[in-house]
Amino acid sequence: MKYCMTIREIFDKLSFRGEIRYDEPLSAHTSLRIGGPAEIMLFPEDPVSLKYALLAAGRENVPVQVIGAGTNVLAGDGGIEGVVISLKAFRSIEFTREADEQKAVLFAGAGVPLSGLLNFAQKNGCSGMEALAGIPGYFGGAVYMNAGSFGTELKDLLVSLAVMNMKGELSILKKDELKFSYRSSNLPADLVILSGNIALTKDNPDAISGRMKEFLRRKKETQPLGEPSAGCVFRNPEGDAAGRLIEAAGCKGMRTGEVEVSMLHANYFINKGAATCRDFVALMEKVKEKVGQHSGVVLEPEIKIIGKI
Ligand SMILES: Cc1cc2nc3c(=O)[nH]c(=O)nc-3n(C[C@H](O)[C@H](O)[C@H](O)COP(=O)(O)OP(=O)(O)OC[C@H]3O[C@@H](n4cnc5c(N)ncnc54)[C@H](O)[C@@H]3O)c2cc1C
Repeated sequence: MKYCMTIREIFDKLSFRGEIRYDEPLSAHTSLRIGGPAEIMLFPEDPVSLKYALLAAGRENVPVQVIGAGTNVLAGDGGIEGVVISLKAFRSIEFTREADEQKAVLFAGAGVPLSGLLNFAQKNGCSGMEALAGIPGYFGGAVYMNAGSFGTELKDLLVSLAVMNMKGELSILKKDELKFSYRSSNLPADLVILSGNIALTKDNPDAISGRMKEFLRRKKETQPLGEPSAGCVFRNPEGDAAGRLIEAAGCKGMRTGEVEVSMLHANYFINKGAATCRDFVALMEKVKEKVGQHSGVVLEPEIKIIGKI
């Protein structure tokens, strides 16, 4: 290994609250169930522990990769060099004092599952997130990806973010300091999202629940939510849908190894068993080529590919 000390020496003596795992398989932390081992995976329980971990990594030139629930990630079979950080312990949801009769502002930690946040909002009569029902992942990952569906995106709700840079410095970014675009927050890769505030509107919990159920029903009709995937593989090109283009190119059901283009939604690739990252990337290439030949459109990946393929 190329660090002066072994990775155990670097992180074993860290002042750290949380779990530390060595050679942790990424397949256990991605919805695709694909991915080799992370040299070390850290699950800090508070910002100070995160800060010490980032400082230690920086001092020894250890690469850092942050991961959420791994629902938009394709992890390499060869694993990940350096440290993978999960903020799944950052799970608090609270009302902030900004709330009034019509408006509620919720604070959410980066590791709050989006589904849990939606349920909390619904139970407390806070509307605005219903269209996101059925999107897996954590709040931090959803913000980073500017996740969205049925016309609502995370950016529409966001008030501010708390972030930490690789030197362990904390800052608060207001919405107007942030740039979001389609499935991207344009946040520098060296910032870790710790938490965020979102603004919602007060409404009747039953009405909110009804809308959530309807959005979920529509989503289940068109997307293979029960099978291991990483959501949409390719970004929608301007004015079109990647799924439509892939289907039109005759790729539905196409397979490489144990990865298959979903029969329900062609922009979802499914792990049919013991698929590898290599299978997945090979299928991406095949589909991209077919779509290029059929429509002339060059598809760009939406999923984030991390580690050694
Ligand atoms: C069945 C299925 C359906 C889906 N449907 C939709 C949909 O309708 N709409 C949609 O937009 N997406 C959808 N997705 C994709 C995915 O669920 C979202 O993009 C999700 O919000 C990603 O969150 P995550 O926590 O899993 O992030 P991850 O996949 O773990 O990470 C995604 C990216 O965010 C970065 N990241 C994660 N957490 C942090 C953090 N705390 N700080 C800084 N960077 C961070 C990672 O480094 C990575 O680059 C779907 C996925 C699946 C599997």
